[in-house]
This record gives sequence, C-alpha cells and structure tokens, in this order.
Amino acid sequence: MSTPPATRWRLLNLGQALDEPEASLRARACREIGLDPGRLRGFRIARRALDARRSRGGMRFVCHVDLVLDAGREPARLRRAVRSGRVQPAPDEGALALESVDPERRARHWVVVGTGPAGIFAASVLARSGARVTMLDRGPRIEERGPRVVAFHRGAPPDPEANLLFGEGGAGTYSDGKLYTRVDDPLEVPILEELVACGAPADILFDSRAHIGTDRLHRILPRLRARLEAFGVEFRFDVRLDGLMTEPGPPTRVRALRTTAGELGCDGLILATGHSARDTWSALADAGLTFEAKPFQFGVRVEHPQELITAGRYGTGPEAELLGPASYTLVCKAGEGLAAAHSFCMCPGGRIVATVNEPGLLCTNGMSNSTHSSRWANAALVMTVGPEAFAEFGSGPFAGVAFQRHFEARFFAAGGSSYAAPAQLVPDFLAGAETRGELRTSYRFGAVPGRVDTLLPASVRDGLRRALARFDRAIPGFAGPEGLLVGVESRSSGPVRMPREDSTRVALGFENVYPVGEGAGYAGGIMSAALDGARSARLALNPAGARSTP
Ligand SMILES: Cc1cc2nc3c(=O)[nH]c(=O)nc-3n(C[C@H](O)[C@H](O)[C@H](O)COP(=O)(O)OP(=O)(O)OC[C@H]3O[C@@H](n4cnc5c(N)ncnc54)[C@H](O)[C@@H]3O)c2cc1C
Repeated sequence: MSTPPATRWRLLNLGQALDEPEASLRARACREIGLDPGRLRGFRIARRALDARRSRGGMRFVCHVDLVLDAGREPARLRRAVRSGRVQPAPDEGALALESVDPERRARHWVVVGTGPAGIFAASVLARSGARVTMLDRGPRIEERGPRVVAFHRGAPPDPEANLLFGEGGAGTYSDGKLYTRVDDPLEVPILEELVACGAPADILFDSRAHIGTDRLHRILPRLRARLEAFGVEFRFDVRLDGLMTEPGPPTRVRALRTTAGELGCDGLILATGHSARDTWSALADAGLTFEAKPFQFGVRVEHPQELITAGRYGTGPEAELLGPASYTLVCKAGEGLAAAHSFCMCPGGRIVATVNEPGLLCTNGMSNSTHSSRWANAALVMTVGPEAFAEFGSGPFAGVAFQRHFEARFFAAGGSSYAAPAQLVPDFLAGAETRGELRTSYRFGAVPGRVDTLLPASVRDGLRRALARFDRAIPGFAGPEGLLVGVESRSSGPVRMPREDSTRVALGFENVYPVGEGAGYAGGIMSAALDGARSARLALNPAGARSTP
C-alpha cells in the first residue's frame, strides 16, 4: 500500500521553557495549528535558540518546528496561521548526492586537496554522485596527528605538517566545533545528518548554538573517513601538493599534480587547503592561479573565568544550572572614527591554544571539549583589517600575509621566543599600563606580562579599547581585572581570495580547478566551509544544473 501524500509545515517562534520536554512542545505545536496529535505524521525541532532576556519572565528557548500532515487535510487554524505568517511551508532539504551529473565530468579523476570540512564535504558530493576521488592531506591521519601535536606542546619545534592547522580534519579539529553558520542553504541538513551518523550529538540538527567539541571531533573523523572510503574515496595522508602541471589554455587545464609523493594524474582539482597554507599559495600563484588580497580579522584572544561569563549572561539562579557554561557573541559597531570590533569563536569552558605551523611565529586561537569543563572562557576579540592597514607591507595579493607574519613574529619575540604569549590585564590595556606579576591562563605555554597595547597597530588597539568598554556593560566584569588579553589572533579568517567564476565557481582562467573553503576566501568557519565545498563540488559535476537543485 502506498503512503498517502504529505505536506510539511514550519511553525515559527514557539517558546519552550528551559526544562520543557519535547513531547510537551509537540502537543503545544499541534494545538497552535488545531491538529489532533493522533493525525501528526512527523515532528522535529528545526531550529532552537536561547532567548536570554531575563526581563521578560525568565529565559526560554524559541523554536521553529516542522510538522508533517496528510496532504489535503490541513486544519482551518493551520490555514489561518499560514495567512498570518506564523506558519510557512517547510523548506526543501538538500542531498549530498547529485542526481543529474554531466557524464564526462563523472568519469574524471577528481583530486581533493585538504581534508578539512570543505574538502571532506566536496569529496562526499563527488563520491556519492559516482565520481572517482582521491583526497590528499599534507598532514597525517587523526590517529597520528594527536601525538605530533602533543610533541610540540612538550617542547619539540613546531611540526610544519602536523599541527593545529594541518592534518586530517583541518583547522577545526582542535576547536569548540561550533557549527554556527549564517548561510541559509538546504545542504546544511544532510551535512549535519552525516556528522550525526558519525557520532555527533543529535541536537546539532537544530540547536543554534550547536557545538561538537574537540574530543568528539576526534572520534567522528575516522568514521567520516570510513564512510567516504565505502564510496570509493582513496585517502593519501602525509602527501603535500607542491605544484600544478598544466596544459596551456585559455582556459588552462590541470593534467597532473606535483606532490611530495611524486606526480599524480588529475582531471579535476578541488583546492581546499585552508587559511594557512602560505607555501601552497605561492606554488599555485606560480602555476598561474589568480590571488587577491582580502580583508581579514585581526586582534587578540580574551580570557575570563567561566563563572564570570555565566553569571553575567544567565545570573546565578537555577537557570544557569540548567543551561551550563555560557557563551557570548558581542558586537561593537563602528563609531567615533573607529572601525567595528566583535568577539568571535567563543570557547566556553575551553582553553587558548597555539595555532603555529612555522617556527618563530605566534598565533592564538581557542578550543573546548564537548563538556565545556575547564574553568576558563575565551574568545577572539577582533577587528577587520583591510588593504589600507597592510599597505606598508606591499600592494600585491600577499600583502595581508606579510602583515600577519610581521605581527606573529613580533608577539613571538615579545613572549620570550618560547611560544609563551604576551598578555595584559584588560584594565592595564585600557589605561596603557604595564601588567605585573604572575598571570593565570589556560594557555599551555603560559602568558607573560607584555604590552599588548603597544604590540598591536594603534587603530586596532583603539578599536578594541572602545569595544571592551561597551562589552563590560553587556557582561559586568568583562573589562575588569579578571579579563586577560593574549595575542596575537591573526588567523581567525583568511587573508587572500582565489577568485572564481560566479556561476560555475571554477578558478578564473582555469577549466578544471575549484578553489573552495576558507583558504579560497569563500568561507569562515566549519559549517560555511563544508557548505562551500559541497556546493562547489555539485557545480563541478554539473555546471549547468546544480544550482537549481536543492
Ligand atoms: C583552533 C581553531 C579553532 C576553531 N574553532 C572553530 C569553531 O569552533 N567553529 C567554527 O566554525 N570554526 C572554527 N575554526 C575555523 C575552522 O576550523 C575553519 O574555518 C575551517 O576548518 C576551514 O575549513 P577548510 O576546509 O576550508 O580548511 P581547513 O580546515 O584549514 O583544512 C585545510 C586542510 O588542507 C590541508 N592542506 C593545506 N595545504 C595542503 C597541501 N599543499 N597539500 C595537501 N594538503 C594541504 C591541511 O593539512 C588541512 O587539513 C577554528 C579554527 C582553529 C584553528
């Protein structure tokens, strides 16, 4: 017997008490649309966000919920809710596999360089759609990456191929694993479902503050790899792309890759090398790929005791108990002649880490485990710097990289050339004063008193000062003596873009090269990189039609 046709509806902005079970939410959703719960064919929370305004009768969640009903039997109250805008048809969900594929493109040998989120989900689309795929990563598989990262923390020099930026899983493997994205793309659902199938918690499917955590990411990656291998993907770790072998155009066509393991034939290339493969960018520019400088985020990491942040956001009552360690997103708009500043990549219950892949440079970032159990809260505090800020470092496409290197070397030297980070208490940063005494921080290499205010460019220092004063109003104590600024945070986003054709996403001047993800300048964060990789791979397989298909 065939299943009768169904319709899917999205009910918007349904409040949920912090401790209200899903069954009760479902019953209320049915009441709102006038439906007998026995006739509901499917229910799921599509989005859930915390409304933290304590003034309005306590904090609560606000949910969008999807309801599946028999087609043609929609209650009158539902139809009225549709007219008022409270209910709308649930959006279509995408699929990673492409149904309509250009046969010539499916027959190509695709090489995906980089096993970060952009590379993994590009490979996933290609392989599920029937193409032959080889994945390269300059770093090791996750099981070998961990011990090499630990060696650096125990005093070995930074490993240029296995670090917090390079190796299986890419840059976000040691992170909070936040999955926030501002891109509204139907492919988000199958990407999240794939992560859940590999061991991520199911609430990432709807929680607007979803995060996975470093510990779980490390368990998920081998499963993601195994599922790709089941679709025929061949992984080659510890193999670095060093150059392209091309047939002249226009358009230029790549026919093979020069790698540390020799020549590798290739009919289609996805470049998902992340925001720190500076040596690879030079090799690709030599091979004729176009690069342009782009604005990027630059600043410091700020750290507080987690208790101070949770009390500031949730108070100290039972709600704080229910919600656990709080996070924040703080924005200070441009004004008073200064550019905007904001917090980024906040890690509740986490720690500050060194994202270093070359000796003599220092760069900070943050990570947390799934339990958010450390007593520290950290976040990037950054401003966007553009070509005018790095003009003194040149005008070419890599001027931003030269700017980053300059400040990374400066902070490394100021920290004592040992990967300890120069740090300043927030009140001293605001007053332009020395910080003295021993500093407590989660950063494993330690924080040493330093003049972060004078190490930064003056425009960034002034913008951050203004922002800190405002953020103290949102979270009392944010700019107080328990706040520590540690630097430098120079790689929150990428400093170059590899321009692509708008409609096909192929690299300018090339026939079969697709730059994707954060390194190509088209993503910022795990989810947006995954989406960019997946979306671009669909266009690579079907330049004519992939855009119109969810
Ligand atoms: C410590 C840290 C914490 C972060 N926390 C979060 C977070 O909580 N949430 C969030 O959304 N984002 C976070 N980010 C940012 C996020 O990790 C990146 O936006 C995302 O990983 C970009 O994905 P990608 O696939 O474009 O590149 P990457 O993840 O950087 O992957 C690039 C891959 O390419 C490989 N590679 C580079 N060059 C070559 C070459 N020549 N040959 C072969 N392989 C090569 C690298 O080894 C690497 O595996 C964090 C980043 C860091 C560093």
